[in-house]
Amino acid sequence: MVMTDVAHTAAPSEGADLLSTVQQQFDEAADLLDLPARLRGILRAPQRELTVNFPVKHDNGRIEVFQGFRVQHNLARGPTKGGIRYHPAVTLDETRALAMLMTWKCALAGLPYGGAKGAVVVDPKQLSLGEIERLTRRFATEISVAIGPERDIPAPDIGTNPQIMAWIMDTISMHQGHTVPAVVTGKPINIGGSEGRLEATGRGLTYVLTTASQHLGLKIPEIRLAIQGCGNVGSTVAREAVALGMKVVALSDSRGGVYNPHGLDVEAVLTHKARTGSVAGVANADSLSNEELLEIECDVLVPAALSGVITAQNASRIKAQIIAEAANGPTTKAADAILYDRGCLVIPDILANAGGVTVSYFEWVQGLQEFFWSEREVNAQLRRVMTNALQQVLRVAAERQVDLRTAAYMLAIQRVGDAVTTRGIYP
Ligand code: NAD
Repeated sequence: MVMTDVAHTAAPSEGADLLSTVQQQFDEAADLLDLPARLRGILRAPQRELTVNFPVKHDNGRIEVFQGFRVQHNLARGPTKGGIRYHPAVTLDETRALAMLMTWKCALAGLPYGGAKGAVVVDPKQLSLGEIERLTRRFATEISVAIGPERDIPAPDIGTNPQIMAWIMDTISMHQGHTVPAVVTGKPINIGGSEGRLEATGRGLTYVLTTASQHLGLKIPEIRLAIQGCGNVGSTVAREAVALGMKVVALSDSRGGVYNPHGLDVEAVLTHKARTGSVAGVANADSLSNEELLEIECDVLVPAALSGVITAQNASRIKAQIIAEAANGPTTKAADAILYDRGCLVIPDILANAGGVTVSYFEWVQGLQEFFWSEREVNAQLRRVMTNALQQVLRVAAERQVDLRTAAYMLAIQRVGDAVTTRGIYP
């Protein structure tokens, strides 16, 4: 079974760091918004947290107890939404941070959701398919008190995939005695998954990028992209960009990158990667390192692999006019300041990679209605949501004279704060 690459998750000690980083980002935006103290208290901490310890029988009969979490950060705007991660180093603090980020991402896209995240401390690569299925079904049962179509809707994340979502859906359906398609998203299409879900993150990023390019007056056929990472998101961005008439000049994966200033033959690179496991060594291209790729001559840089790759050390050498963050957290705070001063437009992760959760929302809507859309309809709605979100962020950034990341946080936090205020404090 294909698992999502786990290379870009946090190490154990990084879980607490990530939480303090997202809380710091929240504090800064809250200061700019003059958010009242009572709202800060509500929004700064997760609303609900569930920790579960549960036994799973291995193929050889051995019983092992695993730990898992489900964190629901805020429920003011609707049920909560967020992935489930399987990783040996995942922590409760990391899960809290990721749940909070999901609240802002959903609010920014205007989706009627709060944020959540789930995790199991496990290395799925060490388990057989049967063991993963038993772990998944038992974890789904343990968190079944918290999830459901009206409560909290999981999706795939690092280490999980559509098959795992199918097992969760089936487990909850067995408990209920009827099929409950809207309990998870990112399902296989034959059991209620949405057309266009797999490509949604990369495609959504391309829609945002097109609007941002027009905003800066860049001509689409003259745009040269460099993309770090050639997995689900990076490869989709590459294909979509070429379909729009842009040139992809550099593309990489964990083994290195390839470069052609006149534009790579993206299909040839992807075929080479499918055959050999890497983009490295494809014909008609020079090789370059992942570090060199970030500083290459290009108009748009798309980090689509790891967090923390754009730093104070390399930010001043980056030539791109636009950085569209497909990966979560690729730019450090110090780099952000340098790039802003140099006039580089950084489209932040919670905006640039929101296409995935947006089409997850469409999948949930289709599941609730038992009425399914064509891929063309999915893409048209995705384009509408992503373009609106970018335009709103650009407006706030111009009004408040802040970078797009700060504007995105301000907009999202304001929306969630408004929902809390309008609903009032119970009882
Ligand atoms: P993926 O596992 O499909 O691909 C990751 C790619 O990064 C692979 O090509 C891998 O070779 C490459 N990579 C790994 N280590 C690297 C290194 N040291 N240097 C350069 N490249 C390296 O993952 P994905 O689904 O494409 O996600 C990419 C990023 O986007 C991740 O940060 C993920 O969290 C984020 N993201 C993904 C989605 C989604 O829907 N898939 C949604 C939101 C955010």
